[in-house]
Amino acid sequence: MTTPRDNLISWLRDAYAMEGQAIELLETQIERLENYPEALPRLREHLQQTREQQTEVERCLDRLGADPSTLKESAMKLGASMQGMMHAMSSDEVLKHALGSHAFEQFEAGSYRSLMTAAETAGEPQIAQTCEQIMRQEQDMARWVWEQLPHMTEQYLRRSESGAEAKR
Ligand code: MG
Ligand code: FE
Repeated sequence: MTTPRDNLISWLRDAYAMEGQAIELLETQIERLENYPEALPRLREHLQQTREQQTEVERCLDRLGADPSTLKESAMKLGASMQGMMHAMSSDEVLKHALGSHAFEQFEAGSYRSLMTAAETAGEPQIAQTCEQIMRQEQDMARWVWEQLPHMTEQYLRRSESGAEAKR
């Protein structure tokens, strides 16, 4: 028998691992975005948010008398495949990064929406509230990435056409 509380703990551990991957992805993006400096402040802001999210998730686990140490393979695998996708890139790398990061932010938002329900069902309204706050941050970030796509594409096409180094 697996109780809602057991599932909540297991999914919070997934979320903890997911935020670890998010930190790595954002750090990689920040390093590679030299041609799109206008995106840097928002990415740095979300990197900071992501670190805080991971700490919040750890606090939720703590509340439940659990710790994040048991990293589940499924969450790690997701992160690894995202990262693989982001590393195997050619000249339109920056655009592929943006597509991948939009998908990643949506995945994060969905994870916290699901966690909210799990926390409520397990009788942990405070954890549900934390998950809702984080979910909104992920939704905001997904929306922001979405809104960058046309501009980033235009810039890429322009750089590409002028023969400038369009990479990154
Ligand atoms: Mg996050
Ligand atoms: Fe995020």
